[in-house]
Amino acid sequence: MNEKKPCDLLISGDVVLPMTSGLPELADSAVAVVDGAIAEVGTAADLRTRWEPGDEIRGGVVLPGLVNTHGHAGMTLYRGLGDDMPLEKWLHEFVWPAEKLFATEENVAAGTQLAIAEMLASGTTCFADMYFFQQRVGDVASACGIRTLLGQAVIGFPVPGCPTPEHAFEKVRALHERFAGNPLVDTSMALHAVYTLTPELLARGAEVADGLGIPLQIHVSETETEVRNCRDEHGLTPPALLNRTGVLRRGTICAHGVHLTEDDVALVRESGAGVSLNPESNLKLASGIPDIAGLLAAGIPLGLGTDGAASNNDLDMWDSVRLTALLPKGVTRDPEVVPAGAAVRLATAGGAAVLGMADRVGRLAPGMRADLCVIDTDAAHLTPLYHALSHLAYATHGSDVIHTVVDGRVVYRDRVHTTLDLESTKNEVRRIAAKIAVGV
Ligand SMILES: [Zn+2]
Repeated sequence: MNEKKPCDLLISGDVVLPMTSGLPELADSAVAVVDGAIAEVGTAADLRTRWEPGDEIRGGVVLPGLVNTHGHAGMTLYRGLGDDMPLEKWLHEFVWPAEKLFATEENVAAGTQLAIAEMLASGTTCFADMYFFQQRVGDVASACGIRTLLGQAVIGFPVPGCPTPEHAFEKVRALHERFAGNPLVDTSMALHAVYTLTPELLARGAEVADGLGIPLQIHVSETETEVRNCRDEHGLTPPALLNRTGVLRRGTICAHGVHLTEDDVALVRESGAGVSLNPESNLKLASGIPDIAGLLAAGIPLGLGTDGAASNNDLDMWDSVRLTALLPKGVTRDPEVVPAGAAVRLATAGGAAVLGMADRVGRLAPGMRADLCVIDTDAAHLTPLYHALSHLAYATHGSDVIHTVVDGRVVYRDRVHTTLDLESTKNEVRRIAAKIAVGV
């Protein structure tokens, strides 16, 4: 006799995309979740004979939640305030002065909560952060039920909450201790860049992170100016300098990598570091276009990111997916160079690997944590549906996400947040923005 087992949640879809190697698009399928982990993936009819769900959600396409591998969540406060500038001018004349005045712990918490609301509503289940007040960010992320890799920003000059880099190193240690054992929060150290830290501080950061066994994040070769100045000052490209200081190593998350030489690509590959591609931010800041096809062909671990909302200007990872599939085609004039499925893979399994979470998230398979999103395909722009991967790469928007699940918890259901009050979150940011508008 066939006794059904209880499961906490059953997520079914017209198509399920496990994003595991070898498993294609599964029609009329489902995912059973027990204790926050995926218990089984298979046809919905099959799963219903074996599982008695305590809760159910359904939709058009079910896939792993998107992993945003680079950003500054608290910067939603500056969304749309300073556009159409190159990175250097934007940082010196706009971002850093504004942060000096307004990046208080309370404001960063409010901006982060808004970022999380936006990410959950567009299918992102995990984000890497590089910013200030990371203990508070970890608390907000935990309360909202999103997975995060915290990255306390380490910069060679006084920044909000950290008068010196040594203070920042102390904060990283404290973060590591505070969130040890938290199933949703990992800790990293976010060294800002080669142009804001001396080689000594880079080496010191690598040593502290090594002692804690945590990954490093760093902006790398984002602009031509960064590369030129690094060569002038140190006689090395940014990756070569990071290699010499011990920063470039397995697990390091190199954000951008827009201007990498052939030697740089070889160095990064040998080091085992990953690259977070942020093509939309690179376009907006006129930094250039990363060689996505070349990095992919080199076998470097790649993930996608949005960067902060002040340089994107939204946190919709579907734009990153689309640009990742489109830009290399335009640059190489080869339509096969980054197929739709490869771009979606970078946003899910690829990103999870770059953040050191490949054993937990990024694929729908038994034993993995249940982080996933569900797309509502009942929309004019998603009709008809032949190939789910095609729609995901070329036609889907964040607003097509109908449910989002993190660690087995439905945190966004029928397009409504279950862990945060969106109206009060927006109102709090509007209140802060009114002050920013007159203060900048
Ligand atoms: Zn950045």
